[in-house]
Amino acid sequence: MIETYWNHLPDIRSMYLEELEELILAFGEKKFRAKQLFEWLHKKRAATFQEMSNLSAALRDKLAEKTELVTLKPVQELISQVDGTRKYLFELADGNVIESVWMEYKHGNSVCISSQAGCRMGCRFCASTLNGLERNLTASEMLEQIYRISSITGKRVDNVVIMGSGEPMDNYDNVMRFLQLITLPLADGISRRNITLSTCGLVPRIRQMADENPGVTLALSLHAADDETRKTLMPIARKYALSDVLSACDYYFEKTGRRISYEYSLVKGVNDTPQEADKLSALLKGRNCHVNLIPVNPVKEREFETVTRKHAEQFKNMLEKNGINATIRREMGRDIQGACGQLRRSYKTDRKEGFECTESGNE
Ligand code: SAH
Repeated sequence: MIETYWNHLPDIRSMYLEELEELILAFGEKKFRAKQLFEWLHKKRAATFQEMSNLSAALRDKLAEKTELVTLKPVQELISQVDGTRKYLFELADGNVIESVWMEYKHGNSVCISSQAGCRMGCRFCASTLNGLERNLTASEMLEQIYRISSITGKRVDNVVIMGSGEPMDNYDNVMRFLQLITLPLADGISRRNITLSTCGLVPRIRQMADENPGVTLALSLHAADDETRKTLMPIARKYALSDVLSACDYYFEKTGRRISYEYSLVKGVNDTPQEADKLSALLKGRNCHVNLIPVNPVKEREFETVTRKHAEQFKNMLEKNGINATIRREMGRDIQGACGQLRRSYKTDRKEGFECTESGNE
């Protein structure tokens, strides 16, 4: 039985239809009620049991008493005046807060979700990890980030990126459950091809995911072209050598046919020289892949400096000259605390009551 972390009641928004059927039968109800309940949870995105009008009052009461309906509470919304990106802070039932981002592109609407409250991976430039890991998120808490944002904006979510706070491979089972649920036609029916999961490189989990093939795009946080530099930026590099990480990515490509996306955050004076661009090209040569360059978003607790747009362009040109596909990530919502975990962190140190909507520039 899938339970919540805080009160250990059945977490019904995290359950597969078959699991709901079992629960409903144990309640002495007819099996078809499970499908009605599933639709309330995932198609109509109910926030309360009271709304579930085609279920009897007796069943709604029983569900309310014996199960948990996980619903996220939006506590803050920041809207970028530069590009319309919106950042949301949600409060979880146990008081933890997490952040998610809404972005509108020509090719559709994207939501970037968090997979953990906090993170224990310790990447040096990342704000999500500064206070370590609070806890994993349940599948329902990942789904709810999408459902609530879609309800608030009134728009459909076309793409999902698991690139918010947390390391999805460190919360593997819940993330796989989330992927199963979000792609079901009976739920949101988001196409697997429109989902990207980003990892700092937990090798056994990448291989496991390749074998299970959930059909999503894998993004690998590379950030350096040699083990020594990578170790200075990412503690996980001490556990897994680059050669092992890359062969796990090759295995993912072999098994799934999906091109790997390599993320490379450009940090001034650390990994941004022409020599590094050459090293990176040599490392990835012959691989069907894509490099996503991200000028590092400075975090005030850390000393790292970012690179200029021009410098990033030069780095990109060098990769392209060597036959490596590369783009520079558009910096979305920079005016609203763009980098992972920054908004959550500032909210935690300056906790406010109620729901707040802030247009940047009016702050
Ligand atoms: N744990 C996952 C998801 C992290 S966030 C992972 O490591 O891939 C998504 C990407 O943003 C990762 O590549 C991460 O390294 C990068 N990132 C985090 N903080 C950043 C910052 N301040 N500037 C630039 N990139 C950052």
